[in-house]
Amino acid sequence: MRTKIARRLHLSLSPDVFPSIPAQLKVAEDDFLAAHQQASVISVRLNPRKPTNVFAEAERVPWCAAGRYLVERPAFIYDPLLHAGCYYVQEASSMFLAEALRQHVDLSRKLCVLDLCAAPGGKSTSAASLLSDESLLLSNEVMPNRASVLCENLVKWGQSNTWVSQSDPKQFGALGAMFDVLLVDAPCSGSGLFRKQPDFAAEWNLDLVNQCATRQQKILQDAMPSLQQEGLLVYMTCSFCAEENEQMVDWILATGEYESLPMKEVSRWGILETQSELHGGYGYRFFPHLLKGEGFFLSVFRKTASSFDHTPSVDARMPMSKSEAAILANYMDMEGMLPILHHDQLMVIQEAHYPYLKAFRASIKLIKRGMLAGKMIRNELIPDHELALSTSIRKSLPAVELSKEEALTYLRRGTLCLDTHQKGWLLARYQQQNLGWVKHLGNRTNNYYPTHYRILT
Ligand code: SAM
Repeated sequence: MRTKIARRLHLSLSPDVFPSIPAQLKVAEDDFLAAHQQASVISVRLNPRKPTNVFAEAERVPWCAAGRYLVERPAFIYDPLLHAGCYYVQEASSMFLAEALRQHVDLSRKLCVLDLCAAPGGKSTSAASLLSDESLLLSNEVMPNRASVLCENLVKWGQSNTWVSQSDPKQFGALGAMFDVLLVDAPCSGSGLFRKQPDFAAEWNLDLVNQCATRQQKILQDAMPSLQQEGLLVYMTCSFCAEENEQMVDWILATGEYESLPMKEVSRWGILETQSELHGGYGYRFFPHLLKGEGFFLSVFRKTASSFDHTPSVDARMPMSKSEAAILANYMDMEGMLPILHHDQLMVIQEAHYPYLKAFRASIKLIKRGMLAGKMIRNELIPDHELALSTSIRKSLPAVELSKEEALTYLRRGTLCLDTHQKGWLLARYQQQNLGWVKHLGNRTNNYYPTHYRILT
C-alpha cells in the first residue's frame, strides 16, 4: 500500500492549477476536492510555561499535546491572553514538528537549535516549548519586516533562551558545524494552504513550484554545513507537490551525508508515510480529507557525514558586572544568568550562551539576544516590555490586575484610571498573566505598552 501511494505521489504534475493537484496525487480525489469546499480548521497551541485555563475544554490535536482545535474563530486580537503569550494561533498539521522532535531528539539535553526560516514563529514557539532551559534556539528570518514579527512573537512567548537573527542561510553555513538541530520550514508554493489562503491558488503554477524547489535546494545547501555530525535536519513545507517534498528528500539523500529517519505510529492519526522514488527516504504528508488540518509535509534526517565540531568554547567567559546583576536580581533569579550592558541597554543571557554570542557576532545579524531587561538611566532600570513578558520574571513583583475592558484599554495604549495605593513600576496583569508595565504616580498612570505592538482597532 505504502509503495503504491508513493508511486502515485510521484506521477508528474499536471500543468493546470489547483484542481489538477489531486490528479497528480491520485489519493481519493473526490474526498480531497470535497475537503477543499469546507472551511479550514482553527487551532491554537498553548504555552506550557504560561499555564492558564484558556481553551481548557477544547478538543486536543492528536499529534501535539499543547494543540487545541477551536470550533469557531474568535476575535483573537481582542483576547488579552494572546498578547500575554499564553497561546499561539497555529495551523494544526504544522504542530507535528513537536512529535518529530520528541521521537528523534533527547530533549533533556542541552541543545543548540537553528530554525532557519522562522517567521512568523509557529515552529520556533513550538520547538522552544520543548527545549530544556539550558538549550539555545536561534530563530532566523531573512526578510526584515517578517523578522520583526518573529521577534514580537518570541518576546510574547517569554523564553530568554530564544534568540532572533536576520541573516541569509549562507551566513550560517559559514559558521561551521555548530547546531544539533536544523529546522528548515522552507518557503514553498503553498498548495497545502489553499483552503486557508485562497489567494495562493490564484498565484499557483508549475513555474512557481520549480522556482520554489530550486530555492529550497539553495537554502539547504547554504545552511547544511552548520549542522553537526549526528545532528538532526527537519525539512518541512506546506506544499502538496512532490517536486518540493519527496524530490527534495531525494536531493538531500543524494548528498550522501544524511540518513532518512522514519516516524513511529503516525498512521493512526491519518498521516500518510511516503517514500522518495530514488533513495526511499521517508516523508510524512498531511491531507485535509484524512485529518483535521491543512496540507503539510515533514521529513527527518540524521547527518552521518563527519564534520569538524565548531561548538564555541566554554572558556569564552565574560566578567559579570555585579551592580547590574544586583539590579536584575530584584526582577528575576540571576543564578546562571549574565547581564550585558550595551550602551544603555541592559540585556540578560544565560552564562552558558555567552560563547555563542561571541561566535555569532562576526557574521550573524542578531536582533534579539537573550532578553532585553531594560534601559539603564543613572543607575536605575527602566524595565522593558520583554522583561514583563519573560517567563523568568518574579511572580511577587508589584502588579495590578485588570478587567478585560481595562486590559484592552491598556493594549490600545489608552489611559487607565487605577484604583491602587501602590506607586512606581507595576505589572499590568490580566487573569494573573503579565501584559506589560505601567508606572503609577498616585494621581495618574503612565501606560508603557510598546507603541508598535498596540491594538489599532
Ligand atoms: N517557520 C515559520 C512558522 O512556522 O511560522 C513559517 C516559515 S515560511 C513557510 C518560510 C519563511 O522563509 C518565510 O518567512 C520567508 O520569508 C522565508 N524565506 C524566503 N526566502 C528565503 C530564503 N531565500 N532564505 C531563507 N528564508 C527565506
